[in-house]
Amino acid sequence: MTETLIVAGAGIAGLNAAMALAKPGRNVIVLDRDPPPPDLDPEQAFYEWERKGVTQLRHSHVFLGRLVKLIRDNHPRLWTELLAGGAREITFGDALPPTLAAEYTFKPGDEDMSFLFSRRTTLEFIMRRYAQTLPGVTFVPNAGIRGPVVEKRGDAVVITGLTVTIDGEESVMSADAVVDATGRETQFPDWLAPYGLKVDQTPRPAGILYFTRHYRLRDGQDEPGRDGAPGAGDLGYIKYGVFAADNRHFSLTLAVPEIETELRTAVMKPEVFDQVCALMPGAYRWTNTERAEPVTKVFGMGNLKSVWRRYAAPGNPTLLGFYPIGDASLRTNPLYGRGCSIGAIQAHLLAKVLDEVSEPEKRLPELEKRSFTEIRPFYDVMVKQDEQAIRRAENEQNPAYKPRFKARVVKSLLDDAIGPASRGNLALMRQLMRPFHMLEEPSGWLKRPANLWRILRTWATPRSWKANLYQPKFGPERAEMLQTLGLKAS
Ligand SMILES: Cc1cc2nc3c(=O)[nH]c(=O)nc-3n(C[C@H](O)[C@H](O)[C@H](O)COP(=O)(O)OP(=O)(O)OC[C@H]3O[C@@H](n4cnc5c(N)ncnc54)[C@H](O)[C@@H]3O)c2cc1C
Repeated sequence: MTETLIVAGAGIAGLNAAMALAKPGRNVIVLDRDPPPPDLDPEQAFYEWERKGVTQLRHSHVFLGRLVKLIRDNHPRLWTELLAGGAREITFGDALPPTLAAEYTFKPGDEDMSFLFSRRTTLEFIMRRYAQTLPGVTFVPNAGIRGPVVEKRGDAVVITGLTVTIDGEESVMSADAVVDATGRETQFPDWLAPYGLKVDQTPRPAGILYFTRHYRLRDGQDEPGRDGAPGAGDLGYIKYGVFAADNRHFSLTLAVPEIETELRTAVMKPEVFDQVCALMPGAYRWTNTERAEPVTKVFGMGNLKSVWRRYAAPGNPTLLGFYPIGDASLRTNPLYGRGCSIGAIQAHLLAKVLDEVSEPEKRLPELEKRSFTEIRPFYDVMVKQDEQAIRRAENEQNPAYKPRFKARVVKSLLDDAIGPASRGNLALMRQLMRPFHMLEEPSGWLKRPANLWRILRTWATPRSWKANLYQPKFGPERAEMLQTLGLKAS
């Protein structure tokens, strides 16, 4: 008998679900309230594809090795199509800092640590074009999901379909199961609450707002080399990042702490955004008008939180036929660039659970358990780092602030030991980048004695002996930046 799965949402998680779940004997119907991508090339899709359902669509995105590996291992044709569409593979060797680039030779495992540089629209456009060619996969655009169709079977709550409005007409679509890939604002916790499902949605603050502007390299100009000021930096009161992309595009994101009320209002103005970039050498070597021209306004986005949702929680009724993945399952601070990889990981976990677990009541708990094992360690470290970043941003506002001994030690460990040690040692850099790409749990590298030894030795090395391993200053101090912009410091 043919099984029917509805995937609610055609964002990155929904697309990966369609790709991972498609198999003979199964229909996968992907619903999304947005219109389909126009029949254009990726370049036009960036400017013209209306995607109200994905607020972050035109914010900077980078795609980590874990996502790249899942695509390459499972969908080689998609990988070829992405590269043909202008998306770029940046290998571990390509991304090395200048201090390590010269001595680099390939080692097995490096091939897993490639970034994909692409605008999010380019990735999504090509991924969707590919997914809809898979047997059994159907996309239904302009389909607004209004809620689940729910049956009570004994103590269990069973999802048997969705109520959907397609082109203004409401109908019921039945399915054997529903995958919630409706993203960060999923309404399923509210829709399921009347059936006794309590879903913890306690947010953990990311503490920042995102401001992104896209640029195109001018004719005859290339991207700057890797030997100058770095393309990303954290100044405490602001973070910047250059996101190289496809087809001679790149974007620049400024992440401004929520408490920097004046600065975050000001940077929405293109001229202030450009002025801020001009004050940070690592940004300006990209955005200066000789090299590139801006092609969009400044996009701003707030309400950035991390949330871990759990449906198969103690005390909840058994939930059947319902599988949340992607941001609908857990949201993370965008700064870490992990959301799309997480959606893809969970799509593959779900496909495995459906294949391996025959008892329906065990499937959702198993999916949540496997997600926890794979992703929770990253989530916990991230939440701690975000708390520290929020404290740092608060302290930046207090000119009289003197860090305590413990804070000074932690800062020195990062600035004088881990940073220089990794920039001076290829083996350590390799091990640091594996968790960065979500290929290995986040703190494993620190437990290895050889790494600890390298870090401690670097810490003990006088500053002047390791001067070449420090990064240049990212930009002005807060007071100077605000004064230059004509903003109040408090
Ligand atoms: C500013 C910002 C920058 C980011 N940068 C990165 C990055 O660099 N790298 C990275 O990996 N991740 C990044 N992320 C995270 C990433 O964007 C998300 O994790 C990812 O989009 C989640 O995919 P998703 O499919 O779960 O949700 P979405 O991509 O948000 O898709 C949800 C889909 O569901 C549809 N939908 C919602 N409700 C309904 C409904 N009722 N009916 C029908 N359809 C519905 C929407 O139209 C949409 O298509 C960033 C996030 C933000 C906010």
